[in-house]
Amino acid sequence: MKTRTKPVLGVLLALLTAASIAVFTQGDAAPKAKGCYMGRYRGDKVVHTDAEWKKTLSPEAYRILRGHDTEKACTGLYWDNHKEGAYVCAGCGLELFVSKAKFNSGTGWPSFFEPIYPENVATRPDHSFGMDRTEVYCPRCGGHLGHVFQDGPAPTGLRYCINSAAVSFIADKADEKR
Ligand code: FE
Repeated sequence: MKTRTKPVLGVLLALLTAASIAVFTQGDAAPKAKGCYMGRYRGDKVVHTDAEWKKTLSPEAYRILRGHDTEKACTGLYWDNHKEGAYVCAGCGLELFVSKAKFNSGTGWPSFFEPIYPENVATRPDHSFGMDRTEVYCPRCGGHLGHVFQDGPAPTGLRYCINSAAVSFIADKADEKR
């Protein structure tokens, strides 16, 4: 009997280790930006293979940033977020928008009337699904963020319609305590 105890204990230890790793990983489900890049974008690029993106991004962030998908309205983390702070790219950490430019569009997606700096977001025509839209993407890592429409409020008249899963929110110090 004694000779059988050790392998059984070994298997139990392995199972416990695997379980604790699984629990630890699950707690990290919210998209986390890798190394924030605050301020004006200065032109460097973040390049990863598709396999690397798949490994580092959450499944939802990967589906949107790399797969150009769209999350369902009113399901994301930030469409109803009213805290003060900054929204950075969930792929590379580049600062994209600040809460001062966020407004309630009634669409169920985080909406902004302007980016933090004009060069911090890039746009290109998107004719997918038989629609004429303008895609918004991250100029640093190329991640798909959402679309920009011409029906926004003053002062720009623009509506940057952004997927929550494509960004991470960094609360201002004063708002963290609320
Ligand atoms: Fe990015």
